[in-house]
Amino acid sequence: MSNFRADLHCHSLFSDGSDHPEKLILDAIASGLSGLSITDHDTVEAYKEALTFAASLQFPLLTGVEFSASHRGESIHILGYGFLPLDRHITALCQKHVTRRLDRNLRILANLKRLGVVITRDELENVQIPSVDDAQKLKRTIGRPHIALLLVEKGIVPNVKEAFQKYLGEGKPAFDPGERISVENTIAAIHAAKGFAIIAHPHLIEKTSILRELLRMPFDGIEAYYAKMGPEKEAKYIKMAQERKWLITGGSDYHGLIKPHNPLGCSWVNDTTFYHFYNHYLSLSV
Ligand code: AMP
Ligand code: ZN
Ligand code: FE
Ligand code: FE
Repeated sequence: MSNFRADLHCHSLFSDGSDHPEKLILDAIASGLSGLSITDHDTVEAYKEALTFAASLQFPLLTGVEFSASHRGESIHILGYGFLPLDRHITALCQKHVTRRLDRNLRILANLKRLGVVITRDELENVQIPSVDDAQKLKRTIGRPHIALLLVEKGIVPNVKEAFQKYLGEGKPAFDPGERISVENTIAAIHAAKGFAIIAHPHLIEKTSILRELLRMPFDGIEAYYAKMGPEKEAKYIKMAQERKWLITGGSDYHGLIKPHNPLGCSWVNDTTFYHFYNHYLSLSV
């Protein structure tokens, strides 16, 4: 099975991706991927229909999520895999994020208003994804990329990147971190759901002291293959994983039109890693 590639990190329009889960699955198959996990930010809504759709095509879809957590004020993304999609520990944490995000998004809108930029709550809740007709009807995670799209639409900034640079990025004038949910509690919820907890894109953690502390926490693995991260960093994170007997994961972090630079499948894991997760997931499903 040397051609086996499974992308374990991508986003659908249930968070800040632009593709429907069914399109992600069809594109994964068309591009020769043998497995996929959709890891939306703080939600597992995609799985309500995607698992049935994937099963109808006999395509192995692994349950996944990317939780927003915080450690010493730094934003940390944690991937969870292999839980049952309706597990109450996962859905409870997702629900906590619904409240956290609503509150935080309203504070960002208030910050923008102070800066002379008016976006209403209604505009944000109904924000359209280019090329998707009815995304606003879904129960989806709304985040800074959606605010960025509105800033572009209103002609305030030319593109999403500048929206982050000028207004929404960490430390920029409209930024608000929102309520902080700890890494420890996030790992605990994933483990309570019998899932695997993985440090996402470790190269984005700027402070080495923070990464050092995370490496002492009860994670199950680290995402060492990530989009265009490069072999030097990969080797560093692979070594960290091996020293701890952790799993080594990988994925593209594909977002579709919203962040068009990472194509689906540009990073992936082999069959051994994928089936470690997937067989565990199947064992929970019976
Ligand atoms: P949120 O979860 O609402 O705080 O938004 C975070 C998401 O915004 C990340 O997962 C990225 O997809 C996106 N993002 C963060 N920083 C940037 C940036 N500088 N440019 C474009 N997208 C970004
Ligand atoms: Zn995202
Ligand atoms: Fe992330
Ligand atoms: Fe992501």
